Parts: sequence; C-alpha cells; structure tokens
Amino acid sequence: MSSTKKNQPTVFVIFGGTGDLNARKLAPALYNLFLDGWLPEQFAIIGTGRTALSDEKFRAKLLDGINQFSRTGKAAKDQWSKFSEHVVYQMADVKEAASYQEFGKRIKAYEQEWKTPANVIYYLAVSPDFFPIIASNLAQSNLADDTDRTRIVIEKPFGHDLESSRELNRLLGQIFHERQIYRIDHYLGKETVQNIMAFRFANALLEPLWNRNYIEHVQISVTEQLGVGDRSGYYDGAGALRDMIQNHLLQLLCLVAMEPPVNFTADEVRNRKVDVLRAMRRFTPEDVRELAVRGQYGSGWMEGKQVPGYREEADANPTSNTETFAAVKFFVDNWRWQGVPFYLRTGKRLHRSASIITIQFKDAPHSIFPAETGENWQQNRLVISIQPEMSIRLQLQAKRPGLDMMLNTVDMVFDYKGTYTSEAPEAYETLLLDTMEGDQTLFMRGDQVEAAWDLIMPILTSWQNRASQNFPNYSADSWGPEVAEALIARDGFHWFTLPLNGKK
Ligand code: NAP
Repeated sequence: MSSTKKNQPTVFVIFGGTGDLNARKLAPALYNLFLDGWLPEQFAIIGTGRTALSDEKFRAKLLDGINQFSRTGKAAKDQWSKFSEHVVYQMADVKEAASYQEFGKRIKAYEQEWKTPANVIYYLAVSPDFFPIIASNLAQSNLADDTDRTRIVIEKPFGHDLESSRELNRLLGQIFHERQIYRIDHYLGKETVQNIMAFRFANALLEPLWNRNYIEHVQISVTEQLGVGDRSGYYDGAGALRDMIQNHLLQLLCLVAMEPPVNFTADEVRNRKVDVLRAMRRFTPEDVRELAVRGQYGSGWMEGKQVPGYREEADANPTSNTETFAAVKFFVDNWRWQGVPFYLRTGKRLHRSASIITIQFKDAPHSIFPAETGENWQQNRLVISIQPEMSIRLQLQAKRPGLDMMLNTVDMVFDYKGTYTSEAPEAYETLLLDTMEGDQTLFMRGDQVEAAWDLIMPILTSWQNRASQNFPNYSADSWGPEVAEALIARDGFHWFTLPLNGKK
C-alpha cells in the first residue's frame, strides 16, 4: 500500500510472541521488511509470553520460524545477526498489571537511547479472550496515553457474534481512538485482493459493465484441502460461517460490489465498503433455509492418504454440529446490484485449495452464429484468482483456428509470475508496514465489523437452533455437500473452479 519509505522510530510489542502466528507470519514479515529496507533504523521488537525464555532462546525461536516460513527462504547469517540485535523477550502474563510496568520501562529506555519519542505498536497475537484485559492493562499502566504514537493491532476473530463485537468495540473505544485501532483481516493485504481496487478503479473499461445490466452473477469461493487437524478446540466454537464468511469472504464481496470511492484514503474506501454491507439483504428464518447451506466433512482419502472426518479429529466433539462448509446466496439491494446473486462458499477438506472470485457476464444479446459453431460456448467471465495462482483472467469467445467457423473460450491472462520478476510481499508485510505508517485502508473499521456480524446473525442463530440431521454430509476430497451444488444449480449455474495451472 505504501509508496514512500518512512523512518519513524518504532517499538513493536508482540503479545503472543512465543505463539504460532508470530513464528509463522509476523517474524518472517518483519524480517523481510527489514531486508527490503522498510523498517526504520531505530526499531525494537519486544516479544512476550508466559514461557520462560532468554533473549537468545527467543531469537532462536524466531529464526526457526523465519527459516521455515519466510518467502525469502533461510535467513543469511549476517542479515539475521543485524536484525536480531533489535529483538528482545520479556516473560509476562497478560493478566498481571505489573508486567506492563516493565514494558513501559523498556519503551522509555529505547526512547532515551534513540533520543526521540517512538511509535509503539501493540500487536495482540493472543487468544481473543485476552483482548479486553490487555487493552485495559495498557490503559491503566499509561501505555496508551499518547494517542498519536500508540497503535493496537487486533487479530481475528473480532468478536464471536454481533453482541460481543459491539462490546469489544465499546471497550477499545474507551481507550483508543478509531484511528489507533488496526483490526486485521489478512486477506485484505494480499496482492491480488488489493488489485481488485486497482483493476476496478484505474481502468475505464470495466466500470460501464460493472452492474446489473451486464453481470449475471458473482461467485466467491475459498476452498481448503486441509482439515481442522488439532485446532478442534478453537474451531468447534466457530465454524465456517464465523471463521471465513463473516470476515474474509464478505470483505472480498465488498471490494467487488463497492461504489467508486472519491479518493484512495482509508475512510473513503471504508465508507464505500460499509455501504455494501448495509445494502445487503437481511435474511428471515425462511430465507436462511432457502439461501444458506452447511456441511461437515466425513472421513476419506486425500492424495493417497486416509484422513479422519471432522468428528474424529484430535480432541473433537464426536457429536459436533459445527459446520466445516458453508455456502450462501446473498443479494446487495442497491441500484447497481439489484437482482444479481452473489454466491459465497467456503469449506475444509475439499478437493483443492483455491480462492477465486468469478464475475459471470450476461449472454450476448443476440448470436449471429449458428448453434453448432458454439459447442464449447460460454458466457464471458472475469476470474480473479487470489491463491495459490495469482492471476486475473478474462474469458472471451474466439474463433478456433481452422477452415470452419467454430467458437471456443480463450483466456486473456494477467499472471503475476509472468508479468513481474519481483516477488509479491506477504500480506503481513503489507499490513505491518501500513500499521507503522498509520494507513488504515486495508484494515477493518469498527462499524464494518459490526455490519458484517449483523448480516450473518440470522444464519448463525438459525443454524444454532436447528441441529443438522445429516452431518457429516460430504466426504474428504469432494467439492462439498450436494446441497451446495443444488443451491446454485437451482438458478441454472454451477460452482466455478479454475483449471489447474490455468490449463483447460
Ligand atoms: P498460539 O500459538 O496458541 O499462541 C498463543 C500465544 O498466547 C502464545 O504466545 C502464548 O504464550 C500466549 N499466551 C497465552 N496465555 C497467555 C497469558 N496469560 N499471558 C501471556 N501470554 C499468553 O496462538 P496463535 O496461533 O499464535 O494465534 C494467536 C492469535 O492470532 C489468535 O487470536 C488467532 O485466532 C490469531 N490468528 C492466528 C493465525 C495463525 O496462523 N496462527 C492466523 C490468523 C489469526 P505462552 O504459551 O508462552 O504463555
């Protein structure tokens, strides 16, 4: 997002420094920002957790994470040595107010050493149960007093339902200004996702077509091969609707459906996104039955390996009613999108891992060609592939080479790998840099999160009150339950999947 290098001295305090997110995402992202020269000269990373660790042991843990997960591969010795000088560890229980005095002393010491006040970023990479207590303790220890220099980053999930998200917003709002609160949805940091805005709003070609007159329907599909594994404890209280649709998929929908913002500033962009959520049709209990379907995976085989069903995963509840798959047909009730269905689906243990947005255009108004010329004929589609392939392809009809007039579908492809030689940054690199620079465009504002919860609450409530009778209802390595096929087939469509490697 940023285009200029800035150099504000910064202290990162990472709550959950010993956890998985830090090892897998934050440490590699900070290290790569350092390698690429984005970090200020004066920066410090204070990791915290209850585990007793020396600075050296903590650094070794981060190095291990970087070596395993960094997009740039194993850390070079000299670079790591320079970076690690900035990293320290402080054992602390987030519930104990006394620990916060220590953070304060360390931050002060850095400021004295650097002879300048520092920006301080509190990154909450801990269970959401701790968000309120950490925020309160920061306030009580006067660590959040400087409203210009302190920022707080909140990981997902932001609330468990509408009520809890409101409560968390209320509590954070008593301590921080909205401009200090960075609610992460890491999907928004992905290159392809940011490109949806560039594609839509930097090209004159698309806008005239981007509405109900030309678009037939939209699909957003985020499928995963992985099962829940040993995360049943967390996942069983969440499910696919909460874990994926409330945040990631609805954010993607907002980017596709939003009106053009007046300019590219955080509040303009976020205003237009929240307009979409507000315009989305609220479901009655009858609508939920008709427009939302759920599934839970059973056992099966994936890539030659036998895999357990959801209820058989480690520590799983053997009678769990939690959905591992959800598909919903939404409508955006405004002038642009009236009558255009938006189909969203997500699930675990599916045939392939892929995140794809498909915009299917309406039929050409009249065909001048005889029916037999168009055996493989298909309506135009714009397919935005977010992962694993990063591409945008426009599917058009063209004449097949030959003496007869036969039509088939061809792809005009913008493929990141083929177009750019430099590697795309990881989403967390973008988001951490934006946090440092105070750019909230790619973060969720409080009202946005609440609007998304408000939208899905009728589905959550209805599913909670009505246990599914047929779980598990899809097997591993499938594309989900039959009801999901039926949801879209009723309207004459089918779920779109991108051919592997872009090949037919
Ligand atoms: P995790 O591996 O279980 O780590 C939890 C962290 O919290 C550990 O560092 C743990 O440190 C610390 N902790 C627990 N109780 C504490 C206490 N009383 N005082 C101080 N520290 C305490 O969890 P995670 O996977 O990193 O996830 C962290 C957050 O990020 C969650 O909100 C999760 O939903 C979110 N998230 C994670 C990922 C991911 O890829 N992992 C992705 C997206 C979002 P000690 O054990 O040393 O106390």
